[in-house]
Order: sequence, then structure tokens, then C-alpha cells
Amino acid sequence: MRGIRSSHALLSTLALACAMHGCAAPPAARAPETAPAPAAPRASDAHDPAQAGDDCDDVPAASPSDDEGPEGEQATIDDGFEAPQASAAAASTAPAPFADLTDAEIEARLRSDVGALGSMSVGRTNGGALVAGVRMPEGANWEVVHPALAWGTRETVDALAHAIDAVAARFPNTPKAFIGDISAKNGGHLHPHISHQSGRDVDLGYYLTDGHRWYADASGGSLDLPRTWHLVRTLIAESDVDLILVDRRIQRVLKAYALEIGEDPAWLDDVFQVGGKSQRPIVFHVDGHATHLHVRFFNPQAQELGRRAYRFLLARRIVTPPTLYVTHTVKPGETLSHLARRYKVTPEAIKKANALTKDVVRLNKPYKIPQPGSGIAMPTRAAIPARRVPPAPKAAAAVNSSRRRAGDKCLRTGSKS
Ligand SMILES: [Zn+2]
Repeated sequence: MRGIRSSHALLSTLALACAMHGCAAPPAARAPETAPAPAAPRASDAHDPAQAGDDCDDVPAASPSDDEGPEGEQATIDDGFEAPQASAAAASTAPAPFADLTDAEIEARLRSDVGALGSMSVGRTNGGALVAGVRMPEGANWEVVHPALAWGTRETVDALAHAIDAVAARFPNTPKAFIGDISAKNGGHLHPHISHQSGRDVDLGYYLTDGHRWYADASGGSLDLPRTWHLVRTLIAESDVDLILVDRRIQRVLKAYALEIGEDPAWLDDVFQVGGKSQRPIVFHVDGHATHLHVRFFNPQAQELGRRAYRFLLARRIVTPPTLYVTHTVKPGETLSHLARRYKVTPEAIKKANALTKDVVRLNKPYKIPQPGSGIAMPTRAAIPARRVPPAPKAAAAVNSSRRRAGDKCLRTGSKS
């Protein structure tokens, strides 16, 4: 069980609100960020016992002195994982959104109102922007933990509301789902995340049978399997989901539960990474996702509009050209000024890129080094795969009643999804 952060230099009102909800990881000081290779769990970042829920499940924690940064610094959440994308051939053959508009027509519409054609998800989830986003509204079936950081595209917000409402519609007396960070109003870097930059990433609480609250560890037997499974199933089957990050221990019990209630085994093997057979599952393990699941949506409209409008947005300085970064892991004897000389940038630029408050870099810790003038990455057309819709569940005669959890009895009396 993870404790609440005992003290923090910059306990913000957001953090306070978070603490009121029992959040174990208030986004208080948003500080240094590293740019890890995708999918590589970094034990060295698992340092803060509160933040550890985001970093150190199943990973031997490094000694605290290795990575506890200067005061106010906080671990990066390991949510920068990127899964292989569908090839253009495998992508949905639906016509591209906005194909009926020329670039000039798009520009003309945006010139009068940048939100005229809807939200735009520009660039990558690990390096992007959100334009004309929508803040997640309050809802009867969910609670937004940090409203100021809950901006997404219209597609993201709608898909999220749809999945949560589906759970509440199916199971009476469902507690409010907790919605954590989505993106900042204009997207971009959102400490302590790596992703969450372009309005398509959402942190979402698991449904719990015991002590339902934000950021509780769900791997210890309190997971509300019927509701959580229905949430995951609805997200996959009824929205455009790129990936869902779920701790492997939770994947195991969710998948076992889904099998028990008659979900198609081949489909489960296709979508789950744990025990699965797919080259490209949807539900992946990344350390730190026992306290919440992370959903990354595809946004066919917002991504395509972001791509088509990219030059216009640059020209209007609504988005700025991305600065590329390299990652440097500090070796013995190296200092901030060494790094600055070696990479021909100012120490201040390195400090800014890593939100450092002091002129100190730490041994064996990776730092982002900005590479100015690296050019502009024009977004490529997103290859959005067809949804993986499961066959209808078979009669679930094999359900072992001893393994049922709250709400299970409703599973087969409610409407079919
Ligand atoms: Zn996340």
C-alpha cells in the first residue's frame, strides 16, 4: 500500500484537491522529465513512494538516493510507451476526414475561428499540442480529479464519456469513475507525464469493490472485475483505441474474468499482451499502471485536422516547431557545464528542458538535451486501424460464483454491449 506523499515543496491547490480525493500522487511540482526509449521500464525513475504507483510495480526500486531529485522534483510517469502503428495497408479504408476540403478552404475556415472545424490533436502524444480542445465536463458517472488538466479533443472526451456511461448503465449503483489527467488546455508537456501532450491520453481509475478512490492500488484483490472489464471492453470495442496501459497483474485477473464470462478466447489473446498471441495487442503492461489505467485514443478527425492545419498553425504561432531532444545519461565526473559544452547548448536550456532548479545533474540519471534548429516534423497521416470488435460472449455457464465480485450478478441481466 502506498502512502500519501508526506511533504512537498509546492503543494498546489490541485494537489490539495487530489489529497482530498485520496490521490496518492498529486501533480504538485511538475519537474524533470526524461525522454526514455519507448517501452523500457526505468527502474531508476521509481523513486518517490507516492509517485511510485506510477513507476515501480514489479520493478526493483533503485535506492532513493539514486533518483530522488532536488527538492520539488518528482518522478516521471512511465507513460511514454508507443506501440507499433498499423501500416497504411492495415489501416481503416474509410475516406480521410476533411478530404472534401482543400488546404485553402481549411485555412479560410480556421482564420475566422480556429475551432471552426473541431479539435486538433497535433503531432505525437509524446510531443504535440492540443488546439481547440474541450475540457472534460462534469458528469453524473465520473469525477474529474484535476479539471484544469482534463482537456482533450472532442473525440477523446466523447469516447471517454461513452465508455464510463456504458458501465453505469449496465451496473446499478456504480460509483463515479475517477478521471485523472488528460492534457493541458493547449497540450504540450504535462509533468509528470511523458505523453498526455495532444489531447488523446487519459488516466482513469479502476473500479474498486473496496475503498473506491482515486489512485488506489488495484492489484491487491479489490478490483471490481465486472465494471472494470466492461469499461475496458467498451473502450476497445466501441471507440478508436490505440492502447491501454494496465499492470500485468491486473491484466491477468481481467483476462481470466473475461474468459469466465464467455468472452471469445481468440479475441482476448488478440487484445491482451499478458498471455496473448498478438504481435500488436491493445492492452500493454507498463510499470506504474496498477493505480490507474492509461487510455490512448486514436482521433481520426482531430489527428487528420491537426495534420492538414499544421502549416497554418505554425504560421500563426499557435503551435511551435518542436525542439528535438537527445537523452544523455550522466557519467562519473560530468557536470551541467560539461553537458552544455558537449551539446553546444546553454546550461539554462538544459535546466529548462528538465525543470531543474539547481545547477546539479545526478550520476546515472538521464537528462533531455535540447537540440535547437532540428527542424519541423510535419505530422504524417495517422493510420487508424479498424476497431477490434469481439464476437458476442458465449453463455457463461462456467462462471465460478466464488469468484464473482460486486456487480457481477448484473452482468447478464443488463443490456448487451
Ligand atoms: Zn497516463
